[in-house]
Amino acid sequence: MIDIQIIPILKDNYTYLLQSSCGTVAVLDPGEAGPVIEVLNAQGLNLDFILNTHHHWDHTDGNAALKRKYSAKIVAPEKEGALIKNIDIAVKEGDIFTLGTERAQIIETPGHTRGGICFYFKDSAAIFTGDTLFSLGCGRLFEGTAQDMFNGFQKIMALPDETMIYCGHEYTRGNAGFCLAHDRSNEDLKKRIEQIKALRANNQPTIPTSLAMEKKTNIFIRAKSAEEFAALRLKKDNF
Ligand code: ZN
Ligand code: FE
Repeated sequence: MIDIQIIPILKDNYTYLLQSSCGTVAVLDPGEAGPVIEVLNAQGLNLDFILNTHHHWDHTDGNAALKRKYSAKIVAPEKEGALIKNIDIAVKEGDIFTLGTERAQIIETPGHTRGGICFYFKDSAAIFTGDTLFSLGCGRLFEGTAQDMFNGFQKIMALPDETMIYCGHEYTRGNAGFCLAHDRSNEDLKKRIEQIKALRANNQPTIPTSLAMEKKTNIFIRAKSAEEFAALRLKKDNF
């Protein structure tokens, strides 16, 4: 099992500190280095790997300082090799990234960006989705098509229901309003919104969420076709 710690950074981003049972350490999507260094210092940890789901600055701006300080290796999507500096291990669909005793499968999920990936730790039932899938939402289509993102969702939907989803932003509360506006009689969604409000009132993350929960409440991954998804995404862009 991997140990996962959430490090809130910037305005509403989440960076994740991952530790294998044998003590190998990785940070995922460090949009800034400072808060990561603080956590590593406080816990007396070194940093072995920096993982990136996609090239956006709020997920990668901490790469350089962390790599310099810890000699950590950067693991990032091969298809974004021209956009992310100093990649040591370029990964693509089906590759396995090994974090000490743990293994992560690379799942390509373009749409938000052209080469975005998810890291899926099967034995820990955890997936890091970056800005592809959020709780009750999904990323904007900046570089890919609705069909791209829909295809990526089908790959995620095929994972076990108990899979826990760790995404790149705390957008859940805002997303909830849009889901509810389109799904007014969904009792699971209403219950989830109460839970979200309580968590946010205490400044707690709403992440992780489970795939089972998202299947019941996230109208984007519930879309039955790329066309249905495209129409929802467009409405959300103007919500
Ligand atoms: Zn992004
Ligand atoms: Fe982002």
